Amino acid sequence: MSGNSPPGRKFPLRLDQMAAPRKTLVKTPQGAATTAPLKPATAAPITPRPLLRPQQPLQHAAAVSARKAAPTGLGLDSAGVRQRMADRLRAEGIRNDTVLAAMAAVPRHQFVDAALVTQAYEDTSLPIGHGQTISKPSVVARMIELLMDGANAKTRTASAGPLGRVLEIGTGCGYQAAVLARLSKQVFSVERLKPLHDKARDLVAPLRITNLRLVYGDGMLGHGPNAPYDGIIAAAGGDALPQAWLDQLAVGGRIVAPVREGSRQVLVVVDRHEHGFKHGVHEVVQFVPLRSGTVR
Ligand code: SAH
Repeated sequence: MSGNSPPGRKFPLRLDQMAAPRKTLVKTPQGAATTAPLKPATAAPITPRPLLRPQQPLQHAAAVSARKAAPTGLGLDSAGVRQRMADRLRAEGIRNDTVLAAMAAVPRHQFVDAALVTQAYEDTSLPIGHGQTISKPSVVARMIELLMDGANAKTRTASAGPLGRVLEIGTGCGYQAAVLARLSKQVFSVERLKPLHDKARDLVAPLRITNLRLVYGDGMLGHGPNAPYDGIIAAAGGDALPQAWLDQLAVGGRIVAPVREGSRQVLVVVDRHEHGFKHGVHEVVQFVPLRSGTVR
């Protein structure tokens, strides 16, 4: 601010008139401005001076909002809780350090309903509404680990978004999409239930993930506009792999998806080579069904 205030005017304020300690302007009942020391929210009770009374509710509001922003005491915001989950995943057989680091970074408790938040770091699937569930951390980690073993992923370093361009079928609440985004250049995640698509949008927004696009649509058709994909990962299991997924897979790309085999579901891995596809079958799993069409 430069120049002098015209005589008799209080504004504009001049910095050199605002000497330390910092003062705040307080209106008297007559409307004249005066100055008062600015106290921190945690300061001792304010001396009851009538002139300062308007400041008391402000101080009070600041203290209340500070209490609201503070952790609830469950400690779920701490990186330590997630690191312990990652340590358990390692003990249970997940070997890929890059995957474990991504699992340790994404706040799973922010994706589950308030009533279930204390279970967020247990190895369990939890309801997310509309008859769907957030996948178990061990299954998310295992599937992403399998994706990381695809030919294209192996050519990239951990810092270069090793998974490349990924298509996820079944956004659900968006948790797995957020983990994938840490390991990919770009993730497209398709959800057929509009309310869940909207919910995921709200849940991922605060995380400011710039390389994740949520798509409302039927994932059985894949997502043509951004194909081909280095990785396709499904969070819902059908009777067979939809042809669209095979068509939209890049050479050197890999699909990891649950598929029904007799009366059970197994994780299937499909690699696309220059001249065809190679199928592999892995462990038994239990996913919600893959369904066609969309629901508003
Ligand atoms: N990855 C999710 C898990 C979601 S559960 C998470 O981290 O929370 C599986 C989801 O797949 C459900 O939301 C279900 O609605 C969705 N789904 C099933 N069939 C689908 C299809 N054809 N296209 C898109 N989504 C589908």
